[in-house]
Amino acid sequence: MTRLIFLGPPGAGKGTQAKMLSDDCGVPHISTGDILRSAVVAGSDLGNQAEGYMNAGELVPDQLILDLIQERLNQADTETGWILDGFPRNLPQAEFLTHLLDQISQPADFVINLDVEDEIIVARLLNRGRQDDEEKVIRNRLQVYRQQTEPLIEFYRARQQLVSVDGNQTMEAVHGSLQRVIIG
Ligand code: ADP
Repeated sequence: MTRLIFLGPPGAGKGTQAKMLSDDCGVPHISTGDILRSAVVAGSDLGNQAEGYMNAGELVPDQLILDLIQERLNQADTETGWILDGFPRNLPQAEFLTHLLDQISQPADFVINLDVEDEIIVARLLNRGRQDDEEKVIRNRLQVYRQQTEPLIEFYRARQQLVSVDGNQTMEAVHGSLQRVIIG
């Protein structure tokens, strides 16, 4: 049983690491960014509503995200655990999630904070070249992260769920650090 929440700035490597751990542990990797990008490609209502926010580097409104995550965490494949990547991203989302996990009696094991320096982040994101990886948008995403998401570090530290991992290492070294956290 593995239930993990990934925190960290855009470009910290959350997606890459969450995917590797999801393969190791055989639990679904739930990325709100991936879900939203698929919705944009599919041209669904959700995608059409989310696209402008994503391209500007803003958070999409909570109202679009909360139902989506509740529905996802109620699917059968989450019974053995899950790895959340990109959610929660602000305090209302974190409070909603705490309540939801209480309701389904599935508290998170850990909240992992992937710590990475700003210059490394910008360089990695510029390299990645996704549609929202233009420099101006990257800077906005970092600012949104500092203002809205970073406070969650204290939120989870106060609940004694936070584990910080140094993300300024190679992909393999970060993966090793994370495996050690999970094994305990
Ligand atoms: P990154 O971690 O590189 O910023 P993500 O794939 O996690 O990328 O997210 C891409 C975009 O999707 C965000 O900039 C935001 O617009 C939207 N998004 C993803 N998750 C959330 C969320 N939990 N709440 C609001 N918006 C979100």
